[in-house]
Amino acid sequence: MSPTTTPLRIDPHRSVGLEAPSYTFKQSDHALIIGAGLAGCAIAKTLADKGMRCTVFDASSGIAAGASSVPTAIFKPYVSLHPSTEQRFINTCFERLLETLANERIAIQTRGLYQTIRSDTDIRQSLYWQRHSTADNNTHTPPHSLFSPDAGAIRPAELCKRWIKHRNIHCRTNVAINSINKTDGLWSVKGNDQQTLGTGQLLVLANAMGINKLLPDQPFFSVAGQINHFSCSTSGPVICNRGYLVPANNGVWSGATFHRGETTEILRSADTEKNLQRCLQYFPVASNQPVSAWCGIRCTTPDHMPVAGAVPDLNHYATAYRELHHGRRQQDFPAGQYEAGLYVMAGLGSRGLVQALYTAECLADIIFGGQVIGESIKQAIHPARFLMRRLKKRSYTPAI
Ligand SMILES: Cc1cc2nc3c(=O)[nH]c(=O)nc-3n(C[C@H](O)[C@H](O)[C@H](O)COP(=O)(O)OP(=O)(O)OC[C@H]3O[C@@H](n4cnc5c(N)ncnc54)[C@H](O)[C@@H]3O)c2cc1C
Repeated sequence: MSPTTTPLRIDPHRSVGLEAPSYTFKQSDHALIIGAGLAGCAIAKTLADKGMRCTVFDASSGIAAGASSVPTAIFKPYVSLHPSTEQRFINTCFERLLETLANERIAIQTRGLYQTIRSDTDIRQSLYWQRHSTADNNTHTPPHSLFSPDAGAIRPAELCKRWIKHRNIHCRTNVAINSINKTDGLWSVKGNDQQTLGTGQLLVLANAMGINKLLPDQPFFSVAGQINHFSCSTSGPVICNRGYLVPANNGVWSGATFHRGETTEILRSADTEKNLQRCLQYFPVASNQPVSAWCGIRCTTPDHMPVAGAVPDLNHYATAYRELHHGRRQQDFPAGQYEAGLYVMAGLGSRGLVQALYTAECLADIIFGGQVIGESIKQAIHPARFLMRRLKKRSYTPAI
């Protein structure tokens, strides 16, 4: 079955190349999803809730094996100096996550969060915190900090497990996808032995840095990071101050470090020392030796917003927008074209826990042709946005 074609929704304020695709899918279609981390589980759950049959593939032996296996992850609203699409997006992500944590009864590791701030201006201009921050009665309130009783920390794998357990979702682990193809309107995925492992009307790439091996010209880059658990008798809310401290499991998780461009998961003693020093600013530890350590790779984008939507047809973009940099009116250019049925959801960066669910809801809205999510948010997470910026600056040379 081929996708349903609907008339193009051209907005008078359209941003060229960032329009919604001209096709949509139906509940009866079958979705293939690569990756069973927060991104893959969130999109599978969102599509499955709408009645779509989904098959999820992951190279690892279980779900939440990549960055989503982080033993603790914080969720909090966005602190920004000015209202922006990014702020609106992340605060909606936060609200949606809170609803799902309550509905799914997910075990909260640590409830409440202090966010240290630089100045009073931060408080006045940070809309979410203005509305929701409350004073905390805790006598150990860190100086210059806001308090959110709703924010906190959980183990993301708990959420992945809950999301993937759905009668419309079939999950296949120990299956690494090596290539993707489209024949007669159906997408297929192949493993190492070139055997076809599944076919479906649509295919969602939710396999983080693994996407760079399946598609050319992707904006994703890796940022390795480490957290450590130190033994100490403390409890109370999370503290965020250029990193986080999560009191949990008879101690404190301290993190995280950042190594841009690093692709290997290795524990570093320098990172342990950094995490120890962060911990000592607030808590006396029983020993300088950590009880445990964890490292992982974030899949990040240049503007720190996730990528979710239809994959652009690079041939079309390279030719249709060749003259874009000459400053002609946007309306003079044709609409973007896409690899019909191929979608991506990745680049969750340092906020995967917070962003996964609402990003998946935005993607589902695009897949089914809904009008629930506003244009500004769809454009802010559009997969072609980096390509368009490069075309405007004439810094894109297609490898095709
Ligand atoms: C140190 C650290 C601390 C963090 N702290 C926080 C935090 O406090 N709060 C927060 O919100 N976020 C945090 N994050 C970020 C969060 O963990 C990530 O954003 C999120 O887990 C990304 O989810 P994902 O599904 O996109 O990627 P992943 O969880 O990495 O999932 C990708 C999956 O794809 C699979 N895969 C890859 N290639 C293939 C292939 N070819 N075939 C089949 N399967 C494939 C992998 O096995 C993997 O399971 C942290 C990350 C790190 C590294």
